[in-house]
Amino acid sequence: RALLVGLTGGIGSGKSTVARMLADKGAFVVDADALARQVLAPGSLALAEVREQFGDQVFYPDGSLNRGALGRVVFADESARARLEAITLPRISAAAQQRLAQARVGQVAVYDVPLLVEQRLAEQFDVVVVVEASAANRLARLDARGLSREEALARMANQASDAQRRAVADVVLDNSGTLAALQEQVDRLWERLQGISKP
Ligand code: ATP
Repeated sequence: RALLVGLTGGIGSGKSTVARMLADKGAFVVDADALARQVLAPGSLALAEVREQFGDQVFYPDGSLNRGALGRVVFADESARARLEAITLPRISAAAQQRLAQARVGQVAVYDVPLLVEQRLAEQFDVVVVVEASAANRLARLDARGLSREEALARMANQASDAQRRAVADVVLDNSGTLAALQEQVDRLWERLQGISKP
């Protein structure tokens, strides 16, 4: 089968950037955020369940999901978040497994999953890669992407810590420097992964 790599890191650490670099090298990449959006696609059963649970307040008048409103509801209320996750997580997980199973034998299959630690997924992977960057760097990059400092800090406080991610990491990539410095680390990681997947 393929070599299964779990890729994670805090918000704004550079996960998606690393995933793109790995895809450029030939990795088969699956993005948990994209699956999460697909699971709640218009007309889906999950979306109907969200309406049942949370009501019209998390929908626009045209019937599409108001992700901002839903985010605010579950961010403010732990039990609401648990109810949303009961709807979405099993479906995201099933979709991820189905997609990852499509990677070829000997290929490197990467699952880009922001909440790998929070969802206790580490054991499902052959290799866990954690991307780290200083808080200052992450805040500056998120700011450039239009996320306010308050919002970024609130999300960081809600995620696992670097120490918790490190505890499950097989490889830690330091993304506090330039993109070129990150690329160099990804190049080295890729060599290592090739050695494991094609011994
Ligand atoms: P999120 O958790 O929000 O999905 P992420 O961990 O996937 O974020 P990226 O989207 O890869 O992080 O990176 C955040 C932003 O910082 C992006 O706009 C990206 O282009 C930029 N960025 C990433 N690494 C660097 C770097 N080393 N130097 C400069 N900019 C960077």
